[in-house]
Amino acid sequence: MQTVRNRKTSKPGATQTETVRDVATLRAKVREWRLNGESIGLIPTMGALHEGHLALVKAAMRTCDRVVATIFVNPTQFAPSEDFESYPRDEADDIAKLNALSTDLAFMPNVDEMYADGFSTSVSVSGLTEGLCGADRPHFFGGVATVVTKLLLQSLPDRAYFGEKDYQQLQVVRRMARDLDIPVSIVGVPTIREADGLAMSSRNWYLSPDERAVAPALYKTLLEIAENIDRDGPCGKAIDAGSTALAAAGFGPIDYISVCDAETLEPLERVDRPARVLAAAYLGRTRLIDNVAAG
Ligand code: AMP
Repeated sequence: MQTVRNRKTSKPGATQTETVRDVATLRAKVREWRLNGESIGLIPTMGALHEGHLALVKAAMRTCDRVVATIFVNPTQFAPSEDFESYPRDEADDIAKLNALSTDLAFMPNVDEMYADGFSTSVSVSGLTEGLCGADRPHFFGGVATVVTKLLLQSLPDRAYFGEKDYQQLQVVRRMARDLDIPVSIVGVPTIREADGLAMSSRNWYLSPDERAVAPALYKTLLEIAENIDRDGPCGKAIDAGSTALAAAGFGPIDYISVCDAETLEPLERVDRPARVLAAAYLGRTRLIDNVAAG
């Protein structure tokens, strides 16, 4: 007889994380769990795992019987000038962290497994992807939407978990899953921060000690903008003050600071509905992004 494991009563460290590198084995594992009546949660990541990623794993653990984390540095979401080659990678450390949480499976395909010879399909989400990060990184959301669609179809999870840290990405994935009738519920998880407010990110590794000391100014500025909008009304003035504060702290260039509708990401003049303040700015050579709720 097959047993249904109750995730909520299993102890941390009780399950050894299985590493899988090919889609066929991933599918076989998921089929086995499904036959057992177990639910599945998926956490797509690019690795170099930190507490932000692990918060997604923990959220999945609370509601799913089986948890699959994927680690794949996806080349199609990097422009040739970007950091694909130097992006931090530490497989052994990632597996140890997933193991410590009793994650069931780490799916770690190589590029050929994901993009076979002749690969020629892409998923593109219009509207939502055109502003903010999409304006300066036009390749980015196509790469993300395509790889997330593949990961969802490969693992067919009940729920997939994404961080609010990458707020535009979360909305794009929600739209894409809805538009393509992918039977998955997309769950957003609040941003995990360092004690000084800096949003955890694999790219924080790039910061020099001096830059690291300045980096929390991004979050602080976003909070100030959200507060000023609540008090004053029009967004323009608050954004200008925020931009000046970021430049004075040492950020530059600033890609964008914007106040947007929380769902459609349409820019707002006044906050008359749930909104988000979002920014992307360089600190030295490192591009940091962050966002907070407003309204
Ligand atoms: P990445 O490995 O950067 O592609 O991120 C994988 C997932 O982890 C995405 O859904 C991110 O939004 C999420 N994530 C990254 N950093 C954080 C954070 N500090 N807090 C919450 N989620 C995060």
